[in-house]
Amino acid sequence: MKKILVTGGAGFIGSHICEKLLEGDNYIYCLDNFYSSEKSNIERLLKAKNFEHILHDIQKPIDIEIDEIYNLACPASPIHYQKDPLFTLNTCFIGTSNILNLAKSNNAKVVHASTSEVYGNPLISPQDETYQGNVNPVGIRACYDEGKRVAETLVYDFVRMHNLDVRVARLFNTYGPKMLPNDGRVVSNFIIQAIHSKPITVYGDGSQTRSFCYVADMVRALILLMELDLMPTSPINLGNPEERTIHNAANFIIEKCMSNSIIEFHDLPSDDPLQRKPDISMAMSILSWAPEVSFEDGLNKTIDYFKDYYGSNI
Ligand code: UDP
Repeated sequence: MKKILVTGGAGFIGSHICEKLLEGDNYIYCLDNFYSSEKSNIERLLKAKNFEHILHDIQKPIDIEIDEIYNLACPASPIHYQKDPLFTLNTCFIGTSNILNLAKSNNAKVVHASTSEVYGNPLISPQDETYQGNVNPVGIRACYDEGKRVAETLVYDFVRMHNLDVRVARLFNTYGPKMLPNDGRVVSNFIIQAIHSKPITVYGDGSQTRSFCYVADMVRALILLMELDLMPTSPINLGNPEERTIHNAANFIIEKCMSNSIIEFHDLPSDDPLQRKPDISMAMSILSWAPEVSFEDGLNKTIDYFKDYYGSNI
């Protein structure tokens, strides 16, 4: 039985990884401090014999015996990572360093979750892995963008100095059931607003773009990356390359929810990237992977999840 640590295992993507890994012959340690996650995400999993939750913050060292680590622990939505920027920076630097030291002492393989935010407000589109980004180092998103950039630096210095096996994935926008209702993400915000017939809050004129990947596609890619025989020498973009404007996403969600919500325009937060679309050629060739779930199908599942979550309060 493989012993696998998932940091951030009660979070949105982490809890889906735990659930998938539980289908195999694995013992799962789900490490989470519930800073930006909910216990309800793992409530069902806690009943499994081979699943254990460890209440811990990766900013403090941890010593357990493990074979593999998925390192996802970090607040990832603007609302959560901007709440306490120093906490975010420390999670990225000290936290990642602790996890890499744990991998070193166990000789464990790591999949490290990085982000499309390392590209900042990109000046090229689509973004491939060689693009070095356009990040404002002193803006309100910097704690996350620069934090995640320095975490990548840490990873590759550990790899060079200690021969660690770490696979870095740059995750683009991901959505699906178990997103936190209060973390301000565009897909969850719009669905929650639409099913409650509240105005849809589009920031800016809505012409900024994002590319949305359904969570099951993302989890499949992360597990394939861990299972790959050879460690790729570069970070790999993971996401769905189908790009759309936020205005288009708002209209689509209103339609899918059969809602009578109106669209309300608000100020665009500073440093909000104007475009984002992954070039996934590397993932397609190395992992033989491509997203399979259409935006329509993924949205329907996510809408059902939130309708169920709010139950009779809709
Ligand atoms: N956004 C929006 N209304 C909302 C929440 C977000 O228009 O209620 C916009 C936000 O300004 C950004 C995009 O949607 O341009 C994606 O935002 P999100 O926070 O989901 O992810 P990120 O900016 O990190 O890609």
